[in-house]
Amino acid sequence: MADTPSLTDAEVADAAASLEDATPEAILGWAAARFAPRLGFATGFGVEGCVLVDLIGRHGLAVDVFTLDTGVLFPETYGLWGRLEDRYGVTIRGVRPAQSLAQQAAAHGDALWEREPDACCRLRKVEPLAEAARGFDAWTSAIRRDQTPDRAGARVVERDAKFGIVKINPLVRWTSDDVWRHVRAHDVPYNALHDQGYPSIGCAPCTSPVAAGEDPRAGRWRNSAKTECGLHDRPSALRVAP
Ligand code: SF4
Repeated sequence: MADTPSLTDAEVADAAASLEDATPEAILGWAAARFAPRLGFATGFGVEGCVLVDLIGRHGLAVDVFTLDTGVLFPETYGLWGRLEDRYGVTIRGVRPAQSLAQQAAAHGDALWEREPDACCRLRKVEPLAEAARGFDAWTSAIRRDQTPDRAGARVVERDAKFGIVKINPLVRWTSDDVWRHVRAHDVPYNALHDQGYPSIGCAPCTSPVAAGEDPRAGRWRNSAKTECGLHDRPSALRVAP
């Protein structure tokens, strides 16, 4: 967490108001001009994240792109990681947990995600993200307002409720249709699992396909009350990555 806010709350509110109707490119351009080199983007390789990597890569924006490599991502996700780097000539850093999977199993037992998914997300996602956050004044997320009730109140620029730094949400006004139109228009690489019934993709042990008519995020932590990793906690309700 930054010791001194890079923007005051009033400046955050002003930026949110002035950028509310701006395009994602313009929002990212503003953020890069204002915060680089202390501007990050943690992508979980959801389709929205691929759109942001496309914009960052094609516009040559100075954004430190990284991913939380929990060690249990789908093979298709690891493949997409390499395809995006090759396509856009960018490096997507892998931020890894303090403990390997074997060390975590030795300390907490096998398959912690089955017994205590909140603890597993804390160890493999939230704590590594908190460590990464220390290097940034601001970071970008790929959330959309229509994804969850929690996200409906997201602003284009806001204070990250959990980490204190400035959070930039260039896609908040977009719908899923907007995202897929952009993917098709620019031939953006995306996860092959999206075409196999997985609209929302996280770690392999905690993601299942959804049936027609189900909520797009119904396959995340299925049969559990858990709906978020804790990466996009909002002030009103602390609660993942797209
Ligand atoms: S999504 Fe599942 S496997 Fe991944 S960190 Fe969270 S609990 Fe662990």
